[in-house]
Amino acid sequence: MFKVGILGGGQLGRMLLQAAANYPVETHVLENDDDCPAAHLCRYFIKGNIRDYDTVYHFGKGLDALTIEIENVNIEALERLESEGVMVYPKPGVLRIIKNKVVQKQFYAEHGIPTAAFAVIHSRNEIGQFAHLLPAVQKLAEGGYDGRGVQVIETIAEKNLGFDEHSVLEKKVRIKKEIAQIIAVDKNLKTALYPPVEMVFNKDLNQLDYQISPADISEKLLWKIEAIASAVVRNFQSPGIFAVELFIDEQDEILINETAPRVHNSGHHSIEAHFSSQFDMVWRIILGFPLGNTKAILPSAMVNIIGSEGHSGPVVYEGLDALLGIDNAFLHLYGKSETRPGRKMGHVTILSTEKQDLIHKANKIKQALTIRSRS
Ligand code: ADP
Repeated sequence: MFKVGILGGGQLGRMLLQAAANYPVETHVLENDDDCPAAHLCRYFIKGNIRDYDTVYHFGKGLDALTIEIENVNIEALERLESEGVMVYPKPGVLRIIKNKVVQKQFYAEHGIPTAAFAVIHSRNEIGQFAHLLPAVQKLAEGGYDGRGVQVIETIAEKNLGFDEHSVLEKKVRIKKEIAQIIAVDKNLKTALYPPVEMVFNKDLNQLDYQISPADISEKLLWKIEAIASAVVRNFQSPGIFAVELFIDEQDEILINETAPRVHNSGHHSIEAHFSSQFDMVWRIILGFPLGNTKAILPSAMVNIIGSEGHSGPVVYEGLDALLGIDNAFLHLYGKSETRPGRKMGHVTILSTEKQDLIHKANKIKQALTIRSRS
């Protein structure tokens, strides 16, 4: 049996494994926490640090292929494994570009992919030299995740809020819409695009509030988005699945924010709402089968289930009964035993032909569900 390893055992790994169950593949997961979301769904679980060279190398050595569910992995070990014939999705060279936000931004600029104007800085004192970029968003080169490592600097007076580290200082975009475009690339670099989705953010947590698919955009913007996403993966020259995050600004210009070289939160709806989900697609790519059908079966909305403020500890879900009573609402809990403020605990996908109905039900789901810790 073809042996595939996944680096990381979070919810993305878990959903990859749910899809893998349909394919002729033997799954292996490497992750430090042996009670992680993916631990009980894989064929072989190996406890270990995905950032450690020796651990990743030994994990990958006997396998046919490797993929990731998080970028923060040991790239040197993946490069050695690749040179020894293990297929790695995406190629480690792509991880090198993406893992560092400075390198990633420079990559877009060098390849003529439109992105917000930026400067590379090493301390907060340098912010003063780039007054023309203010108001700006400062992003740590490495180590940021889910809104951490991102700081808005409105004026020079606010420069002390900035990070005193290697980072990107980029002009703050006047965002009309945030879009995610998922694109699959097979071994021959043939691509398949999912319809772009529109993301609505919770300003307090800087996390997704809900998401609507397909995005409500003109055909002209759709073409531009598809062209940008296609250009990104053409320049990466790597098979895999990619989630390209973009902004539409108030002038209808499209700017790339960042790319995730893996399955992504913005593709969860594809499990029920699309003929071939992003997770199904990964197995088709790795196992060398034809790409799946990316079309939507029905429009959808997706709501993340996120740990509430003030609750840390063993999780209790209240309102699941009411939630599951909503027509065409599909629940996914990630099997995390402990909740924490802002932690992604699950998601719900809703299918409906009507956008208003999707929004109404997304809000109803948020009201129905309470996540708290056992007192
Ligand atoms: P992370 O990798 O932590 O998700 P992002 O780079 O995606 O960080 O930034 C998080 C959020 O911050 C984005 O989804 C967007 O809402 C906002 N943001 C990021 N860059 C800009 C920008 N240049 N202008 C305006 N808002 C931005």
